[in-house]
Amino acid sequence: MIEPGATIGILGGGQLGRMLAMAAAQMGYRCHVFAPQEDSVAADVAARFTCAGWDDSEALTRFAAECAVLTYEFENVPVAPLAALPPGKLAPNTSALEVAQDRLNEKRFVEGLGGRPAPYAPVDDADALRAAIECIGAPGILKTRREGYDGKGQWRIASAAEAPPVERGELIYEGLVHFEAEFSVILARTAGGEIRFWDSAENVHHGGILARSTLPPSPAIAAQVEPARQLARAVAEALDYVGVLTLEFFATADGPVFNEMAPRVHNSGHWTIEGATTSQFENHIRAICGLPLGDTATRTLPVTMRNLLGEDVANPAALFADPAASVHLYGKADIRKGRKMGHVTRLG
Ligand code: AMP
Repeated sequence: MIEPGATIGILGGGQLGRMLAMAAAQMGYRCHVFAPQEDSVAADVAARFTCAGWDDSEALTRFAAECAVLTYEFENVPVAPLAALPPGKLAPNTSALEVAQDRLNEKRFVEGLGGRPAPYAPVDDADALRAAIECIGAPGILKTRREGYDGKGQWRIASAAEAPPVERGELIYEGLVHFEAEFSVILARTAGGEIRFWDSAENVHHGGILARSTLPPSPAIAAQVEPARQLARAVAEALDYVGVLTLEFFATADGPVFNEMAPRVHNSGHWTIEGATTSQFENHIRAICGLPLGDTATRTLPVTMRNLLGEDVANPAALFADPAASVHLYGKADIRKGRKMGHVTRLG
C-alpha cells in the first residue's frame, strides 16, 4: 500500500488529472503533474508540476523517481518513452495504452474477447476506402486510427460517391450503427483483481462530443448493461488492469455494440463525484495506491451531468444561481467553441 502523504505522478495535465489530483488531496496524497503544455489545469491544483515533452527521458526519469506511483489521465501518452520507467510503477500498465491508442487494435482485441464492434475495415488509401464502403456499405464513418477524440478526426460518409479523397494514412472505416441509445460501463479494478462497477449512465453526444449523461438509463439500455459489463470485466482481466476503465457502447435492437474504450476515468463518470458513494476519481486513486475500493452505489436517482462547452461558461453567475446544481469549472482561460470547460451535476 502507498501511504497517504506519498506523491502520485499524473501524466497529462487536463481536467481529468485535475479531478484526480483533487480526489487524491482529499485522501492525503500529493500529486506531481507531468505535461507538455505550460497551461495545465491539473497542475493548478497539484503540489508539483513538470512541464516537459513526452520524449524528454531525463525529465521523465526524474519525475518517476520523485513519485511513489504513476498514472495517466490521457490515453495518447506515447508508449515508447514509458518503457524506461521502473517496472510496475505505472498503473494502468502500458498494455492498456497500446490497445486503446489504436482503434483497429482496440476492436480486434475486444472481438478476441467475444465483444461485437460496428463492422469495420482498416483503410490506408483511396482503393481500400472504396473496397471498405463496398463491403460494409454506407452510410459510415471514416476515422483516424490514432489520436481522434470528441468527434475530431472523423468524417461521415453518406454514400460511396461522397467518399473524401484519402491520401495514405492509418484510418478505419466503420458502418454507421443504428442505435437506440448510448451508454458506458465504468469499472475500477485493484491489483488483487477486485472489480466494482458504477451504474451505467445514458450518454447523449452532439457532434461527437458528450453533451450529457443521465441515470437511470432508458429501458433499452438497462437490459444490455450485464453483457456489456461482462465484456468490460474480460478486458480488465486480460490487461491485468489496475485503476478505472471505461467502455462505451451503443444499445441496439441486437444487443450492445462496443464503440471504444478509454484506459482512464471518463467524462461519462463525472456524475459519480456527487452521485455515487465513491467517485471514479477516488476509486482510481484507491486502486493505484493499493487501497480497497470504495462503494460504487448510486446515492439517489435521477442524476444528470451536463457538460459545459465553450461559451456555456461565459456567464458563471448564471451557473451558480441554481442552488441545486453542483458546478465544476476546470479553470481553462481560453474559451473555444466545443472545448470542455466544466460540467454541472444535479441529483434528484
Ligand atoms: P467516438 O469518438 O468514436 O466515440 O465517436 C463519438 C460519437 O460519434 C459516438 O459516441 C457516437 O455518437 C458517434 N459514432 C461514432 N461511431 C459511430 C458509429 N459507427 N455508428 C454510429 N455513431 C457513431
